[in-house]
Amino acid sequence: MENKYVDVLVVGSGVAGLYCALNLRKDLDVMVVSKDKIDCTNTSLAQGGISVARDLEDVPFFMEDTLKAGRYKNDVQAVKVLTKESIENVDYLVSLGLDVDKDENGNWDYTKEGAHCINRIIHTQDNTGENVEKTLVQNALNRENIRISEDTFLIDIIEKNDKCIGAILLKDKKQINVFAKSVVLACGGIGGLYKNSTSQRILRGDGLAVALRHNVELKDINYIQIHPTAFYDKSNDERRFLISESVRGEGGKLYNVHGERFVDELQPRDVVSEAIFKEMKKTNTPYVLLDISFLDADYLKNRFSTIYNKCLEKGTDITKEPIKVSPAQHYFMGGIKVNLNSETSMKNLYAVGETACTGIHGANRLASNSLLEGLVFSKRAADLINDKIDTFNLTKVDVDKIYRSREEIEEDNRKLVVQAIKEKGGVIDD
Ligand SMILES: Cc1cc2nc3c(=O)[nH]c(=O)nc-3n(C[C@H](O)[C@H](O)[C@H](O)COP(=O)(O)OP(=O)(O)OC[C@H]3O[C@@H](n4cnc5c(N)ncnc54)[C@H](O)[C@@H]3O)c2cc1C
Repeated sequence: MENKYVDVLVVGSGVAGLYCALNLRKDLDVMVVSKDKIDCTNTSLAQGGISVARDLEDVPFFMEDTLKAGRYKNDVQAVKVLTKESIENVDYLVSLGLDVDKDENGNWDYTKEGAHCINRIIHTQDNTGENVEKTLVQNALNRENIRISEDTFLIDIIEKNDKCIGAILLKDKKQINVFAKSVVLACGGIGGLYKNSTSQRILRGDGLAVALRHNVELKDINYIQIHPTAFYDKSNDERRFLISESVRGEGGKLYNVHGERFVDELQPRDVVSEAIFKEMKKTNTPYVLLDISFLDADYLKNRFSTIYNKCLEKGTDITKEPIKVSPAQHYFMGGIKVNLNSETSMKNLYAVGETACTGIHGANRLASNSLLEGLVFSKRAADLINDKIDTFNLTKVDVDKIYRSREEIEEDNRKLVVQAIKEKGGVIDD
């Protein structure tokens, strides 16, 4: 067993964890850990892009789109913060080196996705997330005050007098007790708990399990998003391959197996998913068809290069034929309850990104609002930590040796989270 001492421990290396670390003061000793390789995150998988207000006049419209998609179950103050602070955070991300697709005049090529009233999604072809992840990793590696530890599993947080004072980690079967003035959970979503999900399999709600064990408050954990269009694959792929919303945003049309249209493709995700489920039942077919083949083939190969290549690998040429699709679990709107500065109900413990619940998504996330939430609210966590950290002391306690294996802990986490979600009426296809 080893003890380590840092100013801030960040658990998670997706957009939320890395952007938080990069916004922390450069004189702070920051440790970022990831369960697997640094880029094995859902951030890396994001295709469509990042939503951003076109200008200050667009803020109220962006707010209304987010609230409407969320069935008005959103936290209005959080939505105001998200939309208002979208511009400065996306600008900062681009200043860190994110390459954004441009139109013929050299301006950002904003695309459209379901339930946005205008084009306000910036993107890098159809692999925006991979580029976001690479940009953030590169910047973090260049920062002397940030150390990154891959293949490092969060077992638990360390609590004393209702305050978080660090976390217990496992690396190469060795227990490391990290004492920190602030701990930030950026552990991502719960898709790995589902058979049928677009998520990385390793993301199984570990952050939520830790919160449950320590009575840290959760919120909206029954709100789970089903994406309408994952590639239908009989071969029971490990992870369902996503056909991004931007395919429908750029004109893609849905048909049932008899070639009939049945829904407005640009409705919010829950509405389109529901319509697809109904159509699959009505036609007794495990998929519907998504057609984009009427667009120019060269345009498609460039704009949707990831989707084009992956579908081709799976036997579908999207420039010539429709894609068989069906809905799959995609996103977790609920999570660890946080305030507008990403503080949880436990002192010195913050939660950011998909693991947190700011309330911005309400009952249904508006497309491309997740990467943005990861930026805006992790910056807010970093700002608060930067202001307050000098008043904190490191606290050290004796920590017991943990004798359980990672697999046993993961299984306990799974049971705890699944039970909590089911108790609140959430659906899990485990
Ligand atoms: C296929 C797909 C496409 C998407 N497309 C878009 C899009 O176009 N636009 C958009 O806005 N959103 C999109 N999303 C959603 C978005 O990608 C995610 O919600 C967002 O990236 C989550 O970021 P995060 O930083 O919270 O978590 P992640 O990026 O998922 O990172 C989670 C981190 O937590 C770490 N972790 C977890 N448990 C532990 C543990 N026990 N110990 C140590 N580390 C741990 C992991 O190792 C990882 O580093 C998409 C999601 C998917 C699955």
